Amino acid sequence: MKNKAVVKVMPPQQSTIAARTREILEILGEDPTREGLVKTPERYEKALRYITSGYHTNLEEIVNGALFHVKCDEMVVIKDIEFFSTCEHHLLPFFGKMHVAYLPKDKVLGLSKIPRIVDMFARRLQLQERLTQQVSEAIEEVISPRGVGVLCEAQHFCMMMRGVEKQHSGTVTSTMLGSFRTHKATRDEFLSLTRRPA
Ligand SMILES: [Zn+2]
Repeated sequence: MKNKAVVKVMPPQQSTIAARTREILEILGEDPTREGLVKTPERYEKALRYITSGYHTNLEEIVNGALFHVKCDEMVVIKDIEFFSTCEHHLLPFFGKMHVAYLPKDKVLGLSKIPRIVDMFARRLQLQERLTQQVSEAIEEVISPRGVGVLCEAQHFCMMMRGVEKQHSGTVTSTMLGSFRTHKATRDEFLSLTRRPA
């Protein structure tokens, strides 16, 4: 047929990220053919795909039925969950620790699932505020607890390496849902459990 549109199919293997990284190296005044840089574009693409792999993960897959019915109504706290994420404004890393707590209603979540939920959202382009909120909302969605508290302490390379260069400044964000929002005593209990000994 004469008027049939020609659809150009790109070979699936062809990487545009690596190719474009090579161009970026040139723009920066580098020689992408020198020994140390020859494989850098492919390495960078691999790294970038890994640190954004959270886009290809979903909550259902992670939880995978690890929900347990309990009578317990004591606060569950998981402290010092390390995470590494990427700031969406500068495409530079930010990293730190997250403390997650909830008050179960009738269900608890397998403990190992919480760090995986953190990773799922951290391995995307993020804002620390949104990361904190998404983790709390995911826990609320999965087990409908009486309340959820998430505290996130992070350091941002975009602040440490450039601009203000405040190398030791940390940023703290928090999200409180349900009873963590409405009951000061619950919130205080959570915050005192996450406080470091001075
Ligand atoms: Zn930034």
